[in-house]
Amino acid sequence: MIYLDHAATAPVPRAVADAVYEVLTGRFGNPSSQYPLGLEMKKQMENWRKTVADALGCDAKRLYFTSCGTEGDNWAITAACWQNRHLGRHIVTTAVEHSAVLETCKWMERQGYQVTYLKPDRRGRITAAQALEAVRPDTALVSLMMVNNELGNVYPVEEIARGLAAGNPKTLLHTDAVQGFLEVPFAADKLGADFVTVSAHKIGGPKGVGALYIGPRVRNPRPLLAGGGQEGGLRAGTEATAQIAGFAKAVELRREGLEEKLARLKDLRAYAAEVLSAIPDLTLIADGEAPHILAASLAGWPSQNIVNDLGSQGICISAGSACHQGKPSHVVAALGLPKRTASGVVRLSFGPENTREEIDGCAQALRRHHDQRMPML
Ligand code: PLP
Repeated sequence: MIYLDHAATAPVPRAVADAVYEVLTGRFGNPSSQYPLGLEMKKQMENWRKTVADALGCDAKRLYFTSCGTEGDNWAITAACWQNRHLGRHIVTTAVEHSAVLETCKWMERQGYQVTYLKPDRRGRITAAQALEAVRPDTALVSLMMVNNELGNVYPVEEIARGLAAGNPKTLLHTDAVQGFLEVPFAADKLGADFVTVSAHKIGGPKGVGALYIGPRVRNPRPLLAGGGQEGGLRAGTEATAQIAGFAKAVELRREGLEEKLARLKDLRAYAAEVLSAIPDLTLIADGEAPHILAASLAGWPSQNIVNDLGSQGICISAGSACHQGKPSHVVAALGLPKRTASGVVRLSFGPENTREEIDGCAQALRRHHDQRMPML
């Protein structure tokens, strides 16, 4: 198998699975229990929190474990709007966010909020000036992703944070960093964002666990789940200790030699861009600087057919975000590309274990698809 879909989810290293198994079986205590098995887990929870917080660049007390990136996005947006409910009912976001953000914003619209959806240019770019111009005195929240999951564009979160601090200091800032965490360098406590969402399964952790950074400007954050007081009383529910152990292990592994890993990813991406560009009718989409995502279009050849054809040969790539299989992607639609180009967009996304030989294998399969199938559009 050639797996080039790390932005959908990443393979889980053996050591991560072992860490999960060990907690599920041997160290299964509830962190709220008062005997040694529980007390030990409480201590472990704080070690795991510190591991993830260190990688995110924040104090462990600012990090809350969640069940996934989607949960972090939902929580951040609703908590920001709650804090700023007296400031106003306007949100600025982008048309190319993950549906975890877009659908929450749509839900807020149904609660009476106005939402401005910033449009990218044809290369997927969104500027800080564009975001700041859209901010009004009644803007409760700006929610802008750090790295676009379909295009790989990196968005100017830090610059927007500086602009907000200067002109609209009460407006809160959320960034969905699910595709940025341990892929592009940043430190949550220097970024200037009030909320930062991350998810474990994009970096080799288990599915079903993530974390939300909540910064110091968020006063008395609105709890997501009321109940037994876990996660500082903000996100109750018995902690998913096994998943959290796996998350921390994945972070630990990913951080070993991270700089070299990122340099290798960058090199792989550049290599993929070069070999793919040699395929007739193929163009690269977007100007993503993220080292692990490359979007391309085989104009005229529908992307779902490409994905199915390559999939049948054991090559995993994606026609956009994994959550939209079969449906046209809102991200590609927002680029305003010609129909033939838009319908042929595929995404390759890499992990540290990928090789140039795998890229060659994928490029050859794409070329065969081009040569052997008739264009449909
Ligand atoms: N945000 C982005 C940018 C993503 O790529 C994803 C997953 O594809 C999510 C949020 C959702 O994360 P999760 O699958 O952990 O809910």
